[in-house]
Amino acid sequence: MIHPITLSLLLILGCSPFAAAADTPAAGEATKVERLKTDQWCWTHDVPKDKCVTCDRKLIPALKKAKDWCSEHEAPESICVKCDPKGAKAQIDALRPTEKPKDVK
Ligand SMILES: [Zn+2]
Ligand SMILES: [Zn+2]
Repeated sequence: MIHPITLSLLLILGCSPFAAAADTPAAGEATKVERLKTDQWCWTHDVPKDKCVTCDRKLIPALKKAKDWCSEHEAPESICVKCDPKGAKAQIDALRPTEKPKDVK
């Protein structure tokens, strides 16, 4: 036999219109970064344009000055996948624009 209170509780939970709408965004996302725009992204090397030293070696002094440089791997420290494969990848994924331009292969 089901207790009347248990029964009404089950009804509330089962029929609540809010039950389906409880689609809350995943809590505890470590770093909140602003997604970059399509033209700020180097689609060839899959990194932010202002950190793509493969395209533009002239960026290196600025990155060094900003203490965002891994001299061991010749890459910006914040996206150095060799130093921090997981963290750097998460950083890149968080920054990558959602829309890829059509002319990019
Ligand atoms: Zn590039
Ligand atoms: Zn490194």
